[in-house]
Amino acid sequence: MELKNITTGWFNKARKELGLLPKDQQESAVSIMEICGSCELGKGFTCDKHLKSVVVRNFYYNNQPRKVGDEVNGCGCPLEVKPLSDSYCPLGYWGDRMILVDDWKEVMEQSQNNEHEANK
Ligand code: SF4
Repeated sequence: MELKNITTGWFNKARKELGLLPKDQQESAVSIMEICGSCELGKGFTCDKHLKSVVVRNFYYNNQPRKVGDEVNGCGCPLEVKPLSDSYCPLGYWGDRMILVDDWKEVMEQSQNNEHEANK
């Protein structure tokens, strides 16, 4: 998990404990925590980076393509904050925040166009 995501996760955890986290974010985090709780890589309070499991969908993870059936390690993230951050599951279990492989080309083209416009 990137530093920005770690910071966001801990910040949102504090907001949650103070009752200041928006309801939709709380519900999303609860759903994700349930997934992590039943995942073979979710050990204790960590997504165990010493264990491996199989990717369940095609998507990009840290700018690298992951395909269904790839065997990958857990991310090592603390599960009490990861679901409250902007990061996502290394196996592809959380679908709503991920850039899927099919969408990637379009996202890259848009990003390059924006960069081109900014450099004019
Ligand atoms: S982040 Fe993904 S791989 Fe890690 S414990 Fe949660 S569901 Fe499993």
